[in-house]
Amino acid sequence: SKAQLFDKESQINITFNDVAGLEEAKQEVMEIVDFLKNPKKYTDLGGKIPKGALLVGPPGTGKTLLAKAVAGEAQVPFFSLSGSDFVEMFVGVGASRVRDLFKQAKEKAPCIIFIDEIDAIGRARGKNSIMGGNDERENTLNQLLVEMDGFGTNVGVIILAATNRLDVLDTALLRPGRFDRQISIDKPDLIGREHIFNVHLKPLKLAEEVDAKKLSAQTPGFAGAEIANVCNEAALIAARKNKKAIEMQDFQDAIDRVIGGLEKKNKIIS
Ligand code: ATP
Repeated sequence: SKAQLFDKESQINITFNDVAGLEEAKQEVMEIVDFLKNPKKYTDLGGKIPKGALLVGPPGTGKTLLAKAVAGEAQVPFFSLSGSDFVEMFVGVGASRVRDLFKQAKEKAPCIIFIDEIDAIGRARGKNSIMGGNDERENTLNQLLVEMDGFGTNVGVIILAATNRLDVLDTALLRPGRFDRQISIDKPDLIGREHIFNVHLKPLKLAEEVDAKKLSAQTPGFAGAEIANVCNEAALIAARKNKKAIEMQDFQDAIDRVIGGLEKKNKIIS
């Protein structure tokens, strides 16, 4: 079956080739791809296939991309939801959405369920009660736990969830049989950034001088999302100047712009 996304997109054509660096994380999720493709290999020996894995790392480092690549590599449907969608929901809606999602996923198994920003629903219960609590969030989390416990180990639904706040998660989520595996996704180093630049430079029309190694050296601290952003900005800047190819200067300007954007964001936070 062809992969499809619940919610917005309909097909996942993303593969591990689209995910630069993250070699260890890729190794770990390759096992999940194999569980989805050849479940019998594991269950014949009496093995229990894990139900879930947590992708832990800072924003923009490729957690969503990697989860999609798992679905793309295994050629299975991809159902996704974001924890932040649940924050301002009416009573009962969050829990029933979780129930619907699992029902659909079980029908389409083997498949992946991806929960982005799981910390938005998965914060430790009972720590938010000063403002009268957030019961709806707790209902949603409880429903998620019920669903994860409710299906057998070998039904072919694997749940991947992403967070940058492992420390705030309710420990109930981390128990065996739930998200008992953690895969850490770090910001890329110099070489990692060069690889990510190479992925995002590929579709662009570049002047000969453009050099991924130099760009990587000029972008310390950038995550993959910011690198993708730089590449796109550079193309827009060059186009505005009616250039036929994107030059180093355009990347320079794009880097400045992205750094400016980051500084603004930090100022709002602090
Ligand atoms: P968030 O926590 O903010 O949801 P995330 O870790 O899920 O972030 P993604 O949404 O996967 O990050 O990354 C955003 C975009 O950044 C990707 O669609 C891709 O274009 C680019 N990107 C991030 N990491 C990588 C990478 N390792 N290789 C190639 N592109 C990357």
